Parts: sequence; structure tokens; C-alpha cells
Amino acid sequence: DCSERSFLAPMNAHSHVKKVIGVVSGKGGVGKSSITSLLAVLKQRQGYQVAVLDGDITGPSIAKTFGVEGTQIYSNGKEIIPAVSTQGTKIMSTNLLLENAEDPVVWRGPILAGMIKQFWSDVQWGEVDYMFVDMPPGTGDVPLTIFQSLPLDGIVIVTSPQELVSMIVSKAVNMAKQMNIPILGIVENMSYVECPDCGHKIYVFGHSHLKDVADKYDLNILGQLPLDSELTKLSDMGAIEEYQSEWLEEFDKQVKDL
Ligand code: ADP
Repeated sequence: DCSERSFLAPMNAHSHVKKVIGVVSGKGGVGKSSITSLLAVLKQRQGYQVAVLDGDITGPSIAKTFGVEGTQIYSNGKEIIPAVSTQGTKIMSTNLLLENAEDPVVWRGPILAGMIKQFWSDVQWGEVDYMFVDMPPGTGDVPLTIFQSLPLDGIVIVTSPQELVSMIVSKAVNMAKQMNIPILGIVENMSYVECPDCGHKIYVFGHSHLKDVADKYDLNILGQLPLDSELTKLSDMGAIEEYQSEWLEEFDKQVKDL
């Protein structure tokens, strides 16, 4: 029965995570990792102790975005010490375990799922108010296992304008409902571009279907976010914690209650 959830044994004795939020998407490339990172940055700025578990094992980008790629990860044989960003966010990602960050991850499903479970149970997270889990994209075997084994308090669905016109969102919604995991809201990423001269919003993909989809599945809209080259630039530089913008302030208000 795929709706059954059996949580992993409590994490190691030195860790206590108050809230675990999964960030999901239908496909790769819609900005799931970027939104995971921004949610973490916003909560950290609010004064919380934050952690990011990079569960997007085959396309891990969290370590790079936070500038901790290449950090030496220590283990005492039982527990793994996570990397810590400039602003104090704790991070664990497969990229930190690869000798060369550009090496492809070629493991099969069960190993991938096992890896994420281990990130949960063997990393010494310590005291954490918010843990954001960058979930593997899609609704296949690996995300299913993670859904079933991590005690997620809720999920945030990240979509692109094109995904909103397909059946992809309904799959993610149905999966969460089957597992009885609350859907905290939906984010449309790369929705528009703002003209740097006059501020006019250009909806490159045409009229947004965000509201229709949110109404259909009774979802809370958490944000409609632009394509912003400054965000890409800072992410590539490993400096996402420095990112500021008007739209991020708006987003911050929307996600305050998460
Ligand atoms: P996913 O996790 O869904 O595969 P990513 O978050 O890795 O997607 O985003 C894919 C690429 O698009 C990255 O280079 C990222 O920096 C960029 N990107 C994502 N969202 C935005 C945005 N709103 N504005 C500009 N670039 C973005």
C-alpha cells in the first residue's frame, strides 16, 4: 500500500528538528532547489536555526548555491557533521561527499533513497527550527520512499508556467493527499520578467494559470515569482544568502506562517 508511511527511527540523539518541510516539483529545472534555498534564507533572516537536506541527489545544487561546495565533511564513524553556510544554515548534500563535484551520480533508486534516509538519521543536525528538504523531482520511486519515511510536516509545490497547464501538478497533489501530508501551498516560479527600465511585468509564457490550478485543488498561493538574472548570478556565485529584492520581500510575507 503506497499510502502507508513508516517513519525512520528518531534521528541521532544529538538532533532535534522542530519542523520538516519538503519542496517538490513535477519535473527538474523549474526552480525547486532555488525556492528551497530562498525559503531557508528567509527563515534564517527571521532568526530561526535552519537546515537544508538536499534530497535532489542526482542533481544536487544546494551546496553550490550556499557557497559550501568543497567543504570537508567530517564523520566520527557514526554521525556526519553537516556543512554550515556563512549565515549559519546547516547543509547536507551528496555533492559534499563526492571527490569531484562534477562527478555524475549514477546510483540506482534504492541506493538514492537509502542515501537520503541516511542524511536524515546519521547527520548531526543538532537543534533545528526549520528543515527544508529539496525533494527529488517527480512522483517516482525515490520521492515516494522519501515521502513515506521522512516525517514531513508539509510540502510546498513549485511549478513553472508550463507545468501549470499540464497534469503534473495534479500528480504531486494526489501523492501528498494519499500520504496525508498537508500541502502548505504552491509557488509559480519564472512567471514573468520585469523590465529593468519601467518595471512593467512581461508574462513571457502568456496568461498565468496559477489561480485556476490553486482553485481547482484548493491550494494556498504562496507566490508568483519572476525570472531574475540577479538570483541566477548570486546562486552561481554561492552567495544566495546575499540576495535581496522587492519580490522576495513580498514572498517573505506570504511564507511567514509556514
Ligand atoms: P530545479 O531544482 O527545479 O531543477 P533549479 O532551482 O536548480 O531547478 O533552477 C534551475 C536553474 O534556473 C538554475 O540555474 C537557477 O539558478 C535558475 N533559476 C531558478 N529560478 C530562477 C528565477 N526565478 N530567476 C532566475 N533564475 C532562476
